[in-house]
This record gives sequence, C-alpha cells and structure tokens, in this order.
Amino acid sequence: MRLFDSHAHLDTFARDGSLPEVLARAKAAGVCGIVTAGTTLADWPLYSRLAKEHPGYVHFAAGIHPTEIGADWEEALAALASFWATEPKPVALGEVGLDYFHLPKDRSQAEKTVSLQKEVFRRQLEIALQMDSPVIVHARQSFADCVAAIDATGIDWNKVVFHCFSEGPEEIRLLNARGGRGSFTGTVTYKNAAKTRAAALEQGMERLMVETDCPYLAPEPLRGKVCEPAHVAHTLAALARLLSMPEAELAEATTRNAERFFAIATLFP
Ligand SMILES: [Zn+2]
Ligand SMILES: [Zn+2]
Repeated sequence: MRLFDSHAHLDTFARDGSLPEVLARAKAAGVCGIVTAGTTLADWPLYSRLAKEHPGYVHFAAGIHPTEIGADWEEALAALASFWATEPKPVALGEVGLDYFHLPKDRSQAEKTVSLQKEVFRRQLEIALQMDSPVIVHARQSFADCVAAIDATGIDWNKVVFHCFSEGPEEIRLLNARGGRGSFTGTVTYKNAAKTRAAALEQGMERLMVETDCPYLAPEPLRGKVCEPAHVAHTLAALARLLSMPEAELAEATTRNAERFFAIATLFP
C-alpha cells in the first residue's frame, strides 16, 4: 500500500533527534512521501535540508503561517522567493492563509491583525503566481475571505489545496467547482466531525489527499498522542470506510493525487 502524507511539520522531530525513527515508522506503514509544510522563516532552511537529505521522500513547502507573522515579515517575504531559485525547490508555497480563531480579544487589535494577515497572504499568493507554484492554504474560521483572496489573484485553482479541511459539503463543493480541493487530517476520524466527513464524501476520491498535520491532530484511535506521518494510515482507513472503497485502492489514488498536485514522483518504495 502506498500512502502519502501531504502535510506534516517535521521540525520538532528533527530538533529532538527522533526523525530517523519517525521516518522509519512512516516507511514501515507504507508512507512513500511526505510534504513538510513551512510556517516561518525559521523552519524553511531546515526543511530544505531535510528534502536534500531524503530526496524523493521528504518534500517541503515554504510559507508564512498566518499566526506566525512576526515583526520581520517583510524580510521573511523577501527571503521566501529565493527558495525557488535553489535546489531542492519547495513543492508548494505554504502554509499560508487566514486564521481568525486566534485573534486578540480587543476589537481594534483584532482588526489590525486581520488586515496584516490579509496583506501577508496576498503578497505570498503573488509569489505563488510568479513561481507557478501550488499553494497550501490554512483557513481557520476564514473560509470565505480565503476564497476571495485567491479569486482576486487569478491563481489557477487546480493548484490550490485547503489543508485540514474542516468546513462542510457546501464549502467543498464551492472549492471543487473552481478546480480547488480539500485535504483531510485525523480530524475526519473524530466523533464530532460529521460535517467534515460529509465534506469528504461530497468531494469523493478524485481530488482527495490525506495528511497528518503532525505533530498535532492524531487520528483515532491515537487521539491526544503525538502524531507522526505513519498515522496517516488511520485517517486513510477511516476515509476508505466512508467512501466504501478498499484501503489499498484509496491509498494509491490519494498518493497519485498528491504526486500530480505537487508535480513530484515518489521514489519509495
Ligand atoms: Zn494549518
Ligand atoms: Zn500545518
């Protein structure tokens, strides 16, 4: 079975020295590729190095996460584009987007934060457009604004994934109609996630990708534990039950979808 983890954060494993075991367990579970998603200027060089050390296995994306916009964001933006000029190149720009879940309580502070997030998102979408790069979108309580921002840039929606999709069937229909897609994490296995499951069912397997977003969001039956790429197997199994498909068939389909979306070829196994 070939699985693909289309969105992970490998920085904590790299820093605490557990990455070799984490990758060995991923391979043993059938994971044939991982995209490690950038969040700040601080993790892009690390991810670039991991992609170089694990060619064809670890791929990386570079972007400024909406909750990680620091005082140095202009500088980070200037550095971002340069990653497309060096090998290995990022396979996507991300994760980028809007996050209205963590806004400051004070109203005018919150407005300032939102407008800064929008500006940084817009500027990064322009880089994606320039680099002709796929985009990994983080949309938390900001779905409509994220869609509007992408529409405004004229980016090809076939290159857009809303990762950790947590909206419902109506929203995924809207993405699919434009050519975009949702990718699903372990949250799709949670008891209270009926809406997310309905969205996965609505989209079907044609554009489906699966991800861990590790070290967060471990799927059932591991909920609450530290998540790692090997756990994508549990999410895939839940989606296979939902879509009434054999696991191996859905695993292959989602891996092919990821290979096409990120324009990569997996070398393992
Ligand atoms: Zn995210
Ligand atoms: Zn993430």
